[in-house]
Amino acid sequence: MTATRIDGKAFAATVREKVATHVTRLKESHSITPGLAVVLVGEDPASQVYVRAKGKQTVEVGMNSFEHKLEADTSQADLLALIDQLNSDPSVHGILVQLPLPAHLDEALVINAIDPAKDVDGFHISNVGLLGTGQKSMVPCTPLGCLMLLRDQLGSLSGKSAVVIGRSNIVGKPMAQLLLGDSCTVTIAHSRTQDLAAVVAQADIVVAAVGRPEMVKGDWIKPGATVIDVGINRIDAPERGTNEDGTTKTRLVGDVDFASVAAVAGGVTPVPGGVGPMTIACLLANTVTACCRAHDVAEPE
Ligand code: NDP
Repeated sequence: MTATRIDGKAFAATVREKVATHVTRLKESHSITPGLAVVLVGEDPASQVYVRAKGKQTVEVGMNSFEHKLEADTSQADLLALIDQLNSDPSVHGILVQLPLPAHLDEALVINAIDPAKDVDGFHISNVGLLGTGQKSMVPCTPLGCLMLLRDQLGSLSGKSAVVIGRSNIVGKPMAQLLLGDSCTVTIAHSRTQDLAAVVAQADIVVAAVGRPEMVKGDWIKPGATVIDVGINRIDAPERGTNEDGTTKTRLVGDVDFASVAAVAGGVTPVPGGVGPMTIACLLANTVTACCRAHDVAEPE
């Protein structure tokens, strides 16, 4: 292995420490406690894990955590009424509706009902537009975490060639906007891209947000490039044996074939322990930012 293993877990811990310091300052100097409300509709197991982790870390940095768990058959009107209530609650500075929502709910309508100033996921169309036009906005947590890791690893990103694989609204598109904002030359690749390996081979920076286990191979990568793996994929791991119910044990892998890429790249994030921990740390940072803006207090840099 030649690449630096980019330790998102350790970096996320430093982000959380800074958040905790700001929370203490807000409490002691301004008597304000930032609050994050997380809304979970239904019982999707992965979403339950994420919501639990978010709640735990919110409390650990000294903020208030408000969890709203709703039945899977909650009506759109009831969900919108809850968002309305959270929008007007002064103790709530950030609102996150855990996605995906059950199929009978209109995701875009629900997200756009959140007060943009409390939209700590950065998915509201106002925040998307502000980010796209280079104005102050709430920035989506996963791409923000990737950007922080890249800046920490590389310093200035100006003039670098970046390829983002994936064009989703929650990762790929905002990631491309952030890299453009840092003066990269950005290419967005997707399922219709022709000769993806050749496109990736041009890049100084590769961000993979696809959802396909270990798709990006070492022989696609320009020597010395920095590779950020957003993917979280659960695959069977027969080498780990079987569960009590006889099913095969599983493990998490990214969209990047870590071993072959690490032999060529300059730096690469592992899965787990790379981008994942940064996402929640950035959610906490966004909540502090939203709180500072709401109270006209200097926000963290
Ligand atoms: P989406 O499914 O919304 O988007 C996937 C993108 O990958 C699409 O744009 C799709 O192209 C593209 N794609 C699919 N197949 C290929 C292919 N063969 N070649 C090139 N591009 C392809 O996923 P998300 O953006 O929501 O998530 C991506 C991954 O990141 C997932 O594994 C998810 O679990 C993970 N994730 C991790 C987070 C974290 O905190 N670490 C947070 C959010 C997501 P097209 O548009 O043409 O269909």
